[in-house]
Amino acid sequence: MSGSRVDGAVGAGVRQLLFHPSGKQIWIVVGKDDEYWTDPELGFCSCKDFYFVSLSGGKECYHLRSVRKAAKEGGIIVMDFGDAEYVQMLHALAEDHANRLSLR
Ligand SMILES: [Zn+2]
Repeated sequence: MSGSRVDGAVGAGVRQLLFHPSGKQIWIVVGKDDEYWTDPELGFCSCKDFYFVSLSGGKECYHLRSVRKAAKEGGIIVMDFGDAEYVQMLHALAEDHANRLSLR
């Protein structure tokens, strides 16, 4: 087998959480073991790679690249929410993020 690669059964994917009516967005990249909160506009990701590599001038992590690729080529799963859920969602993500980075 050469040439184009067909996967899609990997389970990984890019999700866009879209909040109405404000139009706010949250991006989640679901990987093999975990999911990460990613913001392509801010160039932010909640994974360790981002924290240790991207922030110190390295290249963007896999998740940020995934979002950019999906935005260009399609394949984003859009999930709709109401604005009332936005803060709650951010809270959950931030907590998750804090837990992940508290390595000590
Ligand atoms: Zn990442």
